[in-house]
Parts: sequence; C-alpha cells; structure tokens
Amino acid sequence: MTLRELKIGKTAVILSVGGSGALRQHLLDMGLIQGAEVTVVKYAPMGDPIELKIHGYELTIRLEDAGKIEVKEIQASAKKKKRNIEKTIHPGYGEGGKYHERRHEKPLPDSEILTFALVGNQNSGKTTLFNQLTGASQHVGNFPGVTVDRKDGVIKGYKNTLITDLPGIYSMSPYSREEILTREFLLKEKPKGIINIVDATNMERNLYLTMQLMELNMPMVLALNMMDELLENDGSVRVNEMEAFLGVPVVPISASKGEGIEELVKHAIHVAKYQECPTEIDFCDDTDSAIHRGLHTVMHLIDDHAREAGIPIRFVASKIMEGDGRILRQLKLSRNEKETLEHIAVQTEEETKMDRASAIADMRFSFINKVCEATVVKPQESKERIRSKKMDRILTGKYTGIPAFIGIMGLAFWLTFNVIGAALQSLLEAGITWLTALADSVMTAARVNEAVHSLVIDGVFSGVGGVLSFLPIIVTLFFFLSLLEDSGYIARVAFIMDKLLRKLGLSGRSIVPLLIGFGCTVPGVMASRTLPSERDRKMTILLTPFMSCTAKLPIYAFFTEAFFPEHAAIVMIGLYVFGIVIGILLALIFKGTMFKGEPVPFVMELPNYRMPGAKNVSQLLWEKAKDFLQRAFTIIFIATIVIWFLQSFDLSLNLVADSKDSILAVIAGVVAPVFTPLGFGDWRISTSLVIGFLAKESVVSTLAVLFGSTEALLGTLTTAGAAALLIFCLLYTPCVAAVASVKRELGGKWACAVVLGQCVIAWVAAFVVYSVVLMILI
Ligand code: GDP
Ligand code: MG
Repeated sequence: MTLRELKIGKTAVILSVGGSGALRQHLLDMGLIQGAEVTVVKYAPMGDPIELKIHGYELTIRLEDAGKIEVKEIQASAKKKKRNIEKTIHPGYGEGGKYHERRHEKPLPDSEILTFALVGNQNSGKTTLFNQLTGASQHVGNFPGVTVDRKDGVIKGYKNTLITDLPGIYSMSPYSREEILTREFLLKEKPKGIINIVDATNMERNLYLTMQLMELNMPMVLALNMMDELLENDGSVRVNEMEAFLGVPVVPISASKGEGIEELVKHAIHVAKYQECPTEIDFCDDTDSAIHRGLHTVMHLIDDHAREAGIPIRFVASKIMEGDGRILRQLKLSRNEKETLEHIAVQTEEETKMDRASAIADMRFSFINKVCEATVVKPQESKERIRSKKMDRILTGKYTGIPAFIGIMGLAFWLTFNVIGAALQSLLEAGITWLTALADSVMTAARVNEAVHSLVIDGVFSGVGGVLSFLPIIVTLFFFLSLLEDSGYIARVAFIMDKLLRKLGLSGRSIVPLLIGFGCTVPGVMASRTLPSERDRKMTILLTPFMSCTAKLPIYAFFTEAFFPEHAAIVMIGLYVFGIVIGILLALIFKGTMFKGEPVPFVMELPNYRMPGAKNVSQLLWEKAKDFLQRAFTIIFIATIVIWFLQSFDLSLNLVADSKDSILAVIAGVVAPVFTPLGFGDWRISTSLVIGFLAKESVVSTLAVLFGSTEALLGTLTTAGAAALLIFCLLYTPCVAAVASVKRELGGKWACAVVLGQCVIAWVAAFVVYSVVLMILI
C-alpha cells in the first residue's frame, strides 16, 4: 500500500520512496526514508495535504506525494521505557581540553577577525540567538547577487568577531535557494567557525544538517538550544557523551532565556582561534558496511580534484554519492573518472539494496539514531507538544481551521486599522498638527520670507507629516504578522490553504509572501525566496503587488473620507477584496498559460507553537520603523520639496500665484489626457500618481500640496471619478522600492513587465469601474 491509503492514527514503516531528482532528495532529507516509521496525524481541512509524524516531528506532505511512498502498516511500536539519565554536569569551557586538539597550538593572530556562520534549521531559534549574541550591533544587508537578507553583527564584548546569520535550512542539498546560498557561503567565504544551532527538543531532525556541516571539516560548535523546554519536560542530554560521539564542543543553551550564551561564545572563539575541526567526520557507522566502502572509494578517487577545487573531501564524496550534479561540475573530472564514480555508486546501490540518495540519508539517520539513543532522554510528551496539539485541534481542525484563519486575520487587521494602530495614529496626527501650528506661528512672528514659509508649511510639514502619521499603522500590522510568524501559526496557514492555492497554481507556502504583501510589497517579494520551486516563486512575486500594501492606506483613507464617508468601511474592504480577486484571476491566467509546469512536493515541518520572543519582535519592528522613517525623510522629503518647487514656479522661474501656471502643470498636462476617460484627467491628480511611483504614501501628500484643501478636490472629481481613481491606485505599478526588489529577484525584464502590466490592468479596471458607477448613478 502507499502512504496515501494509510488511515488516520495508523502507523506504517516506509518501504520505498518514489519520484526522482532534487524533489525526491528533499523528501529524503526531511526524513522520509526507507525503514522509518510514520504515523498519519490528520488531513488539512480541505482534505489535502496530510500531516504526518516521523522521527518524532510533524511534517506535512501532499496526498499526491504520499501516493509515491510505499509503506507497510504495522502496530505502533510500544513506547520505549523512559530511561533515567541523571543530569550530568557540563564541565564547561574547553572540556579540560579533551576535544580541543591543540595539535598545532598555533592560534590565529589577534588581528585576524574571527568570522562565524550561524547555521541551523528553521525555527531552531537562530534569530533569537543572533539577537542575543549581537545585541544592537546588527547590520542588515544582502548576499551578493541574491536578495536574501544577510545580517551581520559583532558578538557583544568581543570586538574582533563578526557573525553572519544564514537562512534557516534543513539540508545542504541544492534544493532551495537558501540551501545553495548557505553552502556557497561556507565553501567560498570560508568563515573561521560555524555555530550550528540545534533544537534539542527535535534532535533527529536537526542533527541531519549537523552531519553535513561536520563533513565540511571546519571549526564548529554545536549550540543545543531550547534546553529549558527539554529539561522542564524531564528530558535531558548527556552533553559530554554527545561531544565524544561528534567530536565537537556541544553547549546546552536557551537562547530565549539567555542561558549558556557566554559559554557558547567562549567555545566558538576558542575553536575558531585554534582552528579546531571536528575530530569525527566518518559517519558511515561500522567499517564493514557497503556505504562506508563506497564513500571511501569515492574519496580516494577524487582526493586531488577536491583539494584543487578547495572543497572538503568528505563533503564532496557524500554529495557525489547523493547524485549532486552541482558539486560534480566543480571538480572537473575526466570522463573515465566520472564513469568509475558511476560504477562505484551502482555497486553501492546493489550492496545496500537502496538507491544512492536513500543510502546516504539512511547512513546519516542511523548514525543520528545511535547518537540519540546513547545521549538523549526524550521528554515523553512535552507540555508545549500537548499544548500545540490542543491548539491544532481547533486551528487546523477539519471544520474549525478555515473559520479560525479568517477570524485571526480579521482580528489582526481590525485591531490594526480600527483600534490600536488607529488610536496611535490619531495621537501622532495631533502631535504633528500641533507642531505645524507652532512652526507656522514662529515663522509668522519672525517674518520669514514667504516662499520659505510656504516651503516649510505647505511642502515639508503637510507632505512628510501626512505620511509620517501612517507609521503607527504600519508598525502595528507588522507586529501582528511577526507574532503570527514567530508563534508558528503561519506554517499552519500554509497547511490549511495549500489545496486552495494549488487550484490557482501556487503552493501553501505562497501564503506567507502574500500575507506579508498586505504590510509591504518589498518584504513580501523577498519572503518568496523560501519557495523551493522557481515557478511558484515567480508567480508569487508577480501576485504579491495585488495584495494592497499599507502605503496605499493613506490614499484610501483620504478618498473614502471625502467621497464615501457613510460607506468608508465597505469601500476599504471592497478595495482589498478587489485586489485579491484581480490577483486570483491573474493567477488562473498564469496557470493556464506561462506557468503550466509541474507541481512540487509540499514538504514542511509544523513546529510546536511557541511564545514569540519580545526581543525578536521589537527588533523587527524597529527595523521596519527605521526603514519607513528613512523613506519618509529621504524620498518623500525630497519629493515634496521638488513638487513644491515645480508647482510654485513657472518656466521662467517666477513665483506663480496659481499653480495652474507652474512648471508642474505643464509637465502633468502631457500625461493627464491618458486619465481623462477614467474621470480624473486633472493635471494635479496625474502628477500625484506619477509621484506615487516613488512612494505610494506621497500620492496623498502631493494632492494635499497641490489642491490645498479637500473642497478643491471635491470640486474637481465626481464620485465615479473618485471610485475609478481608487481602483487605479490599488492596481497600478508598485512603488520604486517594490519594483527594485522584483528586479533583484527576477531580473529587469520581469520588473518592466510588472510596471507596464499593472498600469494596463489598472487602467482597464478603472475604466470599467468608472463606466459602471456612472451607469448606476444615472
Ligand atoms: P529561527 O526561525 O531559527 O530564526 O527561530 P526564532 O529565533 O524565530 O525562534 C523560533 C521560536 O522559538 C520563537 O518563538 C522563539 O521565541 C522560540 N525560542 C527560541 N529560543 C528558545 C529557547 O531557548 N527556549 C524556548 N522555550 N523557546 C525559544
Ligand atoms: Mg528567524
């Protein structure tokens, strides 16, 4: 039978895993290997994907992929007796020098900066640890060539260090962009040490990556995180024995509570300084095994090539055995050598009775089992696990999952736009008004030049101030999104929504970028990099701009208040829904035309629900606020000054009495006719739309500067025109920053396509809306 036919609650042992290529490798890397026991936990509310329990963690895969996995049903193995391991005392720094082989005893010179890479699974606590280690000294940038956030920071209290937070990955296979990136970073930039963070409550899953990191033969320490949770639930780890097995320092820590950090840092600095590599990298278990012979034969054969290419030999060997073409190409082997390698692999397959990739995955998992059996006392069922199960009964339940999702998102948006964000906003607005009045009276008293006065009050204060008042809403929305993400709920959303999104040609994971897109398109587009399939990634990026971002809110707020005061809420919600509907239509068109392609497996871990850390959340909010403020005081500041200038002077640079005669009016007059059929052909409106390309927030500030008063605007626009304008603002080209991020992700051609495509869509949609509203009103 296949895994697909297994009933809920039943357990089976895996006989074989079908499929091929990188996608199959991913299934193996996630632990779906021959001989593993798997239990079906539940189906998603829409009946697909399914949730499985394997190696003690929860995974979700699609029914279609489950159909490729042959299993045999068994009785669930009796619960292992709880062994009592007395809590060992960790001897601390250097383990008496036992695992720190100081063969050379030649430390790196003090002038050398000790660079570290922080590597670990997703949700293992990387961000928390990184924030603990670096405090405020973080630098956020990009990895060259790809838009993946790169965070660097100096370890607190150690000046000559630099730690880089790498994206969370499960394996070093070239499956997702993250995995390739991490691998290239480690191989090319060669940090002085690796800090591998491991979730101690989920050891099997996490050590799988550790095995591959150790094969790199670079100085490394293992940070066993979440020890607080493990200990609290009567689990424990024999840290010293684990060190003996692995041959690297193992330091128990709790990143969120800040325990063990100091010791971890000392170890990390020590191994990096003395360049102490793992003493153990031969995981092929007993030396008689076929896989051992196979791997070592490969190692002998490619020794010189690996050295020449500068890639650790053991790592190369197991990657070749896995069938990793990327590494193979870097080695520049002769045809003869390639053929020999193929023969070795086939021989190993025959002897192990498994295909090569499974044989390697099996080797790793058996070594991990051995380590865990000897050193880890698993908590029977942790409080967190039980709590997660209870929460999931509702949050991913058959009948409750989808209503809960809608409820939670609705609540988050309602709190943001109606309660918390709105209250903070009116507070800030009051402050800005007060400040404006103050500046106005001071300048009047000081008899400041009229032009300067107008620049400050009509330009800067009304422009920048108008935008600034949206800071609270943006920060509040990001606050809720980061709570949902950090707590582990977003992974559930992907699980629930997968089937629906697949109908649109996307996968459940696309929900993350799309949801973030409601906050801001830029991080939304960036979040799409976690999607393993190129096709999903492209489609998600192209659809994200249709999720109305917070920067467009000022526009909606301004117009609904002026034109539809009685129906403000409905119009607002309507706009959001309209954007989503257009996105869905577009997705269906994409699916039927450009992006036909194969669906990819949806293999995802469902982490336990956890309380989000206050530090992480506040760090993120600070980053977002800073980013927004920077924009407000750079792009928008400059834009308002430029507009003020263009509308205050005419072509011969005289101050104009009426902005009709200004330079701006001349320029905008050229664009305006395009918008006449949409009911907003006024030059001031077309100006604000053009300026809106810089930053959507500045549409309103530009209108404020140009019209001076809402009455003036009401005089130039009809209700139908206002509706059309709102639709146009919703759909037309995303701002420069968003287009730039699309360009970085997909290249210039796609970025241009986004700009032009969305303008056309916006124009057509606005035209339709204009005509319809006119008809209704007549
Ligand atoms: P990342 O995905 O690897 O960056 O993981 P995060 O740093 O975002 O952490 C994932 C979740 O685990 C967050 O909700 C953290 O608050 C939580 N967490 C991190 N470290 C610890 C820890 O030592 N103990 C406990 N109980 N929770 C932790
Ligand atoms: Mg993180």
